Amino acid sequence: MNRPEPALPAALAARPHDRRRGLPIPFVNETPDGEVDFAAIQASQVLRCARERLCGSCGQPLAWWVAFLGGPESATQRAYLDPGMHPDCAEAALTLCPHIARRHHRRAPEHRLAAGVITPDTMTETKPQRWVMGICRDYEARIVAPRSAQAHVLFLPRPFHRTRTWSYTAAGHLTEDTPPRRR
Ligand SMILES: [Zn+2]
Repeated sequence: MNRPEPALPAALAARPHDRRRGLPIPFVNETPDGEVDFAAIQASQVLRCARERLCGSCGQPLAWWVAFLGGPESATQRAYLDPGMHPDCAEAALTLCPHIARRHHRRAPEHRLAAGVITPDTMTETKPQRWVMGICRDYEARIVAPRSAQAHVLFLPRPFHRTRTWSYTAAGHLTEDTPPRRR
């Protein structure tokens, strides 16, 4: 493969790595025992992101710009179950996340039944044909059912300052629709 690998953001590179795949373990995928389940996001980690305004990928505090990643529907509604990320971390997720990077990757369905785990529509078997990164200044994190064990968070970004879109090629690889302007 000749596709260029984007440089990994330092905070993401510093994350513990999954031994089997050699990939950094995203903050929201880290299980309570420090292992990884790439197929599911952990509700407790998502709550921490909401309460402490952390990046869902590297787990460090968010800065000026916040990126949300999901399908076109999520972008239109501006409602997400996955926390926002640093824009660099979101871009890395498009390349690294086995679920996103390849169209034909399939999750093991049994993961979806595990307790304490959320599988939002961006993580179901019917994954989006296109991925939209919406970049905004701020968002509201609405904790749903905060007193129950099944508490989850609805992330509601403010209007996007900018959006970027990726589609799958015929070979099933993700490519950006319009390349970003050079800085
Ligand atoms: Zn990050």
